[in-house]
Amino acid sequence: MCKLTMLGTGNALVTKCFNSCFVVSSATTHLLVDAGGGNGILAQLEKAGIDVGSLDGLYLTHAHEDHLLGAVWIIRMMATLMKKGKRTEKFPIYGNSHVIKALYGICRYALAPANFEYVCERIPLVEMSEADSVMVGDFRLRPFDIHSTKLTQFGVEITLPGGKRLVCLGDEPYNEANRSVVEGADWLICEAFCLYSQREQFKPYEKHHSTALDAGRAAESLGVRNLIIYHTEDTQLADRKRLYGAEAASAYSGNVYVPDDLEVIEL
Ligand SMILES: [Zn+2]
Repeated sequence: MCKLTMLGTGNALVTKCFNSCFVVSSATTHLLVDAGGGNGILAQLEKAGIDVGSLDGLYLTHAHEDHLLGAVWIIRMMATLMKKGKRTEKFPIYGNSHVIKALYGICRYALAPANFEYVCERIPLVEMSEADSVMVGDFRLRPFDIHSTKLTQFGVEITLPGGKRLVCLGDEPYNEANRSVVEGADWLICEAFCLYSQREQFKPYEKHHSTALDAGRAAESLGVRNLIIYHTEDTQLADRKRLYGAEAASAYSGNVYVPDDLEVIEL
């Protein structure tokens, strides 16, 4: 049985929850997708009961700070474990060429040389293109371009053992160009900055984001079985599950999940 642990569910500027990122786990594999905006990733992993040293790989969707900067802390911790002999396997980090170059540049200047020497050698930074696919433990990863107008962003299709497909769209709305990848997915992870009913207050469309209603409409048109909504504002977390869930369900006949930070979903 595979599971998804949501480490964070908020947008870039949240203060009441963590930035959106998650771990997909099988019996033997932990894959981290995005890393949040900083050192808080270490706290979220600890609270979730997932050892940093047990992670098998990291996939980064794009280079914005709320997804990328936590990776520096994962590298810092992984290098420390390797130095102490507590981690023997390599720790690969995957992403499009832009995010990988950004991560390399930050590490080059921000990490102590004794930690930076592990980057590339034992912590390979792997640039992927759309044509590539790679196995990380039990999971097959296939990136796809979400056609962001802001900067290059690749979503990812994760095929679980047994063949179920989990598709993450990153942090921008579904683009019709990706129908062949997303259609019929077992699980769709889609951003919703806010409720459609509160669009005048939060202005999601100006920020290249969408709403719970938009996520529900996309999921319905794509025939996906389960919809997971994340990357939201954080002014009404106590009611978010109910409000966002109801709005998405008004347009979507499948199962809607609006997880809180650290919530675990069985896949
Ligand atoms: Zn984001």
